[in-house]
Amino acid sequence: MSLLAEDTEVADLGLRWKPGFSTLGPAFLTELRPTPLPDPYWVCRSEAVARELGLPADWHSDSTLRALTGSLPVAGTRPFATVYSGHQFGVWAGQLGDGRAIMIGETEGGLEVQLKGAGRTPYSRGGDGRAVLRSSIREFLCSEAMHGLGIPTTRALCVTGSDARVRREELESAAVVTRVAPSFIRFGHFEHFAANQREDELRALADYVIDRYYPACRTTDRFNGNAYAAFLEAVSERTAGLLAQWQAVGFCHGVMNTDNMSILGLTIDYGPFQFLDGFDPRHICNHSDTSGRYAFNQQPNVAYWNLFCLAQALLPLIGDQEVAVAALESYKTVFPTEFEARMRAKLGLSDSAEGDRALVEGVLKLLAAGKVDYTIFWRRLSHGMADGNVEPVRDLFLDREGFDAWMLLFSERHAIGTRAEAAGLMLRSNPKFVLRNHLGQQAIEASQQKDQAGVATLLALLQTPFEEHPGTDDAYAGFPPDWASTIEISCSS
Ligand code: AMP
Ligand code: MG
Repeated sequence: MSLLAEDTEVADLGLRWKPGFSTLGPAFLTELRPTPLPDPYWVCRSEAVARELGLPADWHSDSTLRALTGSLPVAGTRPFATVYSGHQFGVWAGQLGDGRAIMIGETEGGLEVQLKGAGRTPYSRGGDGRAVLRSSIREFLCSEAMHGLGIPTTRALCVTGSDARVRREELESAAVVTRVAPSFIRFGHFEHFAANQREDELRALADYVIDRYYPACRTTDRFNGNAYAAFLEAVSERTAGLLAQWQAVGFCHGVMNTDNMSILGLTIDYGPFQFLDGFDPRHICNHSDTSGRYAFNQQPNVAYWNLFCLAQALLPLIGDQEVAVAALESYKTVFPTEFEARMRAKLGLSDSAEGDRALVEGVLKLLAAGKVDYTIFWRRLSHGMADGNVEPVRDLFLDREGFDAWMLLFSERHAIGTRAEAAGLMLRSNPKFVLRNHLGQQAIEASQQKDQAGVATLLALLQTPFEEHPGTDDAYAGFPPDWASTIEISCSS
């Protein structure tokens, strides 16, 4: 009787759905329903994502709230969880899968909608299938912040909370993040079928991803028309581009396991991530990463290591080890090229010249030596370029002589071209606002007291982080307080 009652009421989100990942069939997923979270409430919403999905203006209704927390089925959908495996901290971890994320479906516009924290699945492995409010707000804000910075990422439509409690180190309130992306497929999906010697499924998955997201791999004459090798190369290039952006903005992901690597080169699975405060190349943001495997300056190498795992998984399809290795090669050129291009833009340089690499290396060395605040340095340098006053930049350094020597080189490099043009490029390349740990923490603490205004304010700044937003400097664009360095964040929560 209760089943019938449940099914008579459905939520119509006003979206049209189409078959997507689920067409791959039962070897790839398990159909199931989210487990309802009791007494749900809205925590935060991104209207930008709602528009991208094509949701109607009045989308945040009570029935949507209940649908996104599992109490109402979404009309026209058959939710499911997918299976994947992966390497965690450099070690083969075997089967993982969506242990707490449930896919609602794919919209006609080609966006998958997923509920993270929606209850147990066959892949929960002893976990409770839930996400806590704290980490859900972090994921929501950072997804939208990355997008605002122009960095490829999965998006977040909203966080919906509940007073239901879940146990972590202590009891915390549960929440769901509604995530959106063209695909949530990870390197680990490929590793799963390769490790289980399921070549038919491996091929079906690769064909699906190539046809949907990398169609140019079918027609290229790279690798003698080997589409799987071309695919691996394309993923390597996208990943290289992503890593260049992370390194340039000072983003530390924290858990770059192969199951947290998007096949589309998106930033995915926000956990213990951090934007650097003081510049420390060896910074480790994940409290449980005791060896520093995922330290900030290790990220580019780790991405390459992860691509190697993907190559190994694709080997049965590529058919030749040398070709597979050749397909990875582009990472080694694309990463440095992209990174230098990003850094040149930060320096206000619209062309490249000999000596630029030394200029970049020089400034990073100075920043590291003084643990200078990374975001503030670049923003002050941009304003210095605009108004000719570099004193506020100089003030950031104890090693004034070192700074002056670098500044001389920097000024010489800018001798040609107009200052206004360079300043414009810099102000578009060096954000004023990033999601610093302490800013997230303040918004979270207010939200835990049912005050959601802080999350909304932060969201608005992070969506347009290159704009000045007058009046927000002290609270949102200043140096982190001392207590910021005591915030400890570890893996899944
Ligand atoms: P993560 O570190 O968040 O990327 O998660 C690694 C794996 O653990 C994935 O398979 C997740 O689905 C799973 N997982 C993390 N937290 C939970 C949880 N609370 N309940 C069930 N599975 C989880
Ligand atoms: Mg994950």
